[in-house]
Amino acid sequence: MHEMSYVVRMVNLAQKTVENELAKDAAPFRVKKIVVQVGEMTGVIPMYLHRYYPEAVKGTYLEESELETEDLPAMVHCLDCDTEYHPGTENNYSCPNCNSIQGKVVQGRDVLLKEVVLEDL
Ligand SMILES: [Zn+2]
Repeated sequence: MHEMSYVVRMVNLAQKTVENELAKDAAPFRVKKIVVQVGEMTGVIPMYLHRYYPEAVKGTYLEESELETEDLPAMVHCLDCDTEYHPGTENNYSCPNCNSIQGKVVQGRDVLLKEVVLEDL
C-alpha cells in the first residue's frame, strides 16, 4: 500500500508546479499528464500507481490527466574507480571494472516526478 503515499506525494509536487504556472498568469491550460520515474530499488509496482492515480487526483488540477511511468534502473557509483554501473547478479553486485563492492547507490532508490505536461486550452 505504500504506492498510495507515493502517488499522493507526486500529485502534491505536480500541484505545486501547476500553482507556479498559474502564478505566472499564463494562458489557460490543463494538465495533460505527469511523468513519474520509478526507481528499480523502490519496490514500487507501477501498476498500483496507475490504479490509485484517479483517486489521488480527484478535486485537484490534475483531475482527468494521465499518469505515465518510466522505469529508472538502479545505478551504483564505484568509490574505488569512479565507474558507474548497474548492480545485478551478472556481476555479483560488484563493480564490473575493478570488482570493488565499495559503491554508492546514485540512482534507483526514489520515485521522482520527471515532468508535468501542460496543454493549452
Ligand atoms: Zn570500480
